[in-house]
Amino acid sequence: MLPIINMRLAHPEVLIDISGLQVLTGIDVVGDTLGVLTTHRMLETTQLRAVCPLLTDLAPFIALLAVRFRGTRGGFLVHADPSAKWSMAVATLRTAIELASSAGVRRLSAEEFFLRMLVTALAPDEILWRVAFPVLAPEPVWR
Ligand SMILES: Cc1cc2nc3c(=O)[nH]c(=O)nc-3n(C[C@H](O)[C@H](O)[C@H](O)COP(=O)(O)OP(=O)(O)OC[C@H]3O[C@@H](n4cnc5c(N)ncnc54)[C@H](O)[C@@H]3O)c2cc1C
Repeated sequence: MLPIINMRLAHPEVLIDISGLQVLTGIDVVGDTLGVLTTHRMLETTQLRAVCPLLTDLAPFIALLAVRFRGTRGGFLVHADPSAKWSMAVATLRTAIELASSAGVRRLSAEEFFLRMLVTALAPDEILWRVAFPVLAPEPVWR
């Protein structure tokens, strides 16, 4: 978002900083979900490799290390850039995306979440909550 604001392509009246919300961070391998504030760098160096290695194998190819320390799964998904590596991974792995509001949590497939380039099904009163990843067989093949 900040590069878009820097280029004067967006003029938000209000900015809410969610980076301190611990509930949105972390990887729950038992519950097979990923906090949306989990950064690319966390994925690159996590125990997730044992159960869903495509996610960890992709991470080092994203941008440069400084961006990977700041960029999050949630920010990437809501930005919905079809050229980004995670778009391919989310669609390929049939990842489920959880959106939360005061009305509760709804779970969408990648096809339901990504409407078109840079546009998602996220409603104005919703936040991206968690991302559920599939736990794969011990030696999945994707070469
Ligand atoms: C120089 C550079 C190079 C890059 N190269 C690559 C690359 O090679 N490959 C690649 O895949 N990606 C690349 N990216 C994208 C990068 O990996 C980040 O994923 C992306 O910029 C999102 O950043 P962010 O997490 O800071 O999200 P932000 O910019 O903070 O957020 C993006 C949007 O999502 C919204 N948002 C964020 N979190 C939530 C939430 N939980 N709920 C609701 N809305 C939310 C924000 O309001 C904003 O509209 C690059 C980015 C930069 C700046």
